[in-house]
Amino acid sequence: MSVLIAGAGLAGSEAAWQLLRRGVAVELIDIKPIAFTPAHHSEGFAELVCSNSLRAEGVLNAVGLLKEEMRRLGSLVMEAADATRVPAGGALAVDREAFSRFITERLTGHRLLRYESRELTALPDDRLAIIATGPLTTGALSAAITEAFGTAQLSFFDAAAPIVEADSIDRERVFFQSRYDKGEADYINCPMDREQYDAFYRALLSAETAELHGFEQGQVFEGCLPIEVLAGRGYDTMRFGPLKPVGLVDPATGRMPHAVVQLRQDNAAKTLYNLVGFQTRLKFGEQKRVFSMIPGLERARFARYGVMHRNTYLNSPALLTSTYCSKSRPNLYFAGQLSGVEGYVESAASGLLCGIHAAQRFLGKKPEPFPPETAMGALAHYVATPGRRDFQPMNVNFGILAPLNLKASGRKDRNTKLAERALHIVDRLAKNL
Ligand SMILES: Cc1cc2nc3c(=O)[nH]c(=O)nc-3n(C[C@H](O)[C@H](O)[C@H](O)COP(=O)(O)OP(=O)(O)OC[C@H]3O[C@@H](n4cnc5c(N)ncnc54)[C@H](O)[C@@H]3O)c2cc1C
Repeated sequence: MSVLIAGAGLAGSEAAWQLLRRGVAVELIDIKPIAFTPAHHSEGFAELVCSNSLRAEGVLNAVGLLKEEMRRLGSLVMEAADATRVPAGGALAVDREAFSRFITERLTGHRLLRYESRELTALPDDRLAIIATGPLTTGALSAAITEAFGTAQLSFFDAAAPIVEADSIDRERVFFQSRYDKGEADYINCPMDREQYDAFYRALLSAETAELHGFEQGQVFEGCLPIEVLAGRGYDTMRFGPLKPVGLVDPATGRMPHAVVQLRQDNAAKTLYNLVGFQTRLKFGEQKRVFSMIPGLERARFARYGVMHRNTYLNSPALLTSTYCSKSRPNLYFAGQLSGVEGYVESAASGLLCGIHAAQRFLGKKPEPFPPETAMGALAHYVATPGRRDFQPMNVNFGILAPLNLKASGRKDRNTKLAERALHIVDRLAKNL
């Protein structure tokens, strides 16, 4: 008896390791090398398809904290990353070939692992399985997933607007109001006068966009245009679209502003707000530069930048528990980008938790969700928490961790306390996992 893992990417490799180190046999399958997705090219496991960076180090940064939690939980991906790192300032970057080789050799050399190159085309119903086939899950498996859960439950394209941390919005420059005062004053409005709008419009038109991959050409829908494409259609197009000011009165002037950027609450804890209608293909640095021109966002911290790219992911809040387990088919776990996390490290982290939970199940124990005070647990709770209108994948950030009950003097102190709290919990949990 073994656990089946489909996908030997970041999530599947880490999940496999967590099962193996708990004495559980694993059957790992990947379509590589008999076939490749449009972004994968090498034969090894845990292929980094684009950048070779696992982003910031240091636990005062949320992704640094996530990496440290993973180390303390015996992560193979982190062991490989630490062993194959290359100089990259404050970031953890790796030699991608050595990194993949490290992971491939460790897994294929394990006596409890059996690897086979084959495509998963149907969801197993007779055994415990982890599906970790990633953002470019093949068509046959995508079809099987939609057949099992419904067509509305699987997205193929990620069009996400940026999200900012609530406490970095300048409250002196914005106002709470709903259009025409309908319902509760749920939106934060960032008012622009003509001069501010002109400058913003010009900056948007000249900003640099991210490169498109060949398989992403033509994947923009008319109902979901990038904000820079809207701007390109004419000076006033944004003012008749997401930046329309009608029905809003700025209490500071008593008048309708020339244009308004609206921010919508993004999580129950009110720590995150998204920029309504701001899906974009601008490069991340450009998003910071241009969107910081919006009144009230001059010093905004971006919990997530906007993206528009090919990405297969589940509507996880409807389908998964916070142990990454399917609610309706409990023999199935989903990990990695497919589960609605975003990024290499986050994918590996979800694989790590998934592996622990699947091992617990396999060994007859009851899987307990990780607490949202930890970065690992916060991600798992984020993907499994209903309440948002349209679920979008998320990078780890301090805004999704359970809020701090202690007083903090500034951001550095807050992050220090959040990190200390998280690592304390992880150390305690690690003893019994
Ligand atoms: C083009 C592109 C660029 C990206 N760049 C970055 C970046 O620079 N930094 C970053 O942090 N994140 C990036 N990401 C996002 C994401 O974090 C990575 O894709 C990450 O590798 C996801 O991990 P995963 O384990 O979920 O999937 P993957 O690492 O993609 O692993 C999935 C595996 O499943 C296999 N597979 C697919 N379908 C099947 C099937 N039906 N049967 C069997 N095997 C199958 C694939 O061959 C692959 O090996 C990028 C994504 C894409 C698509």
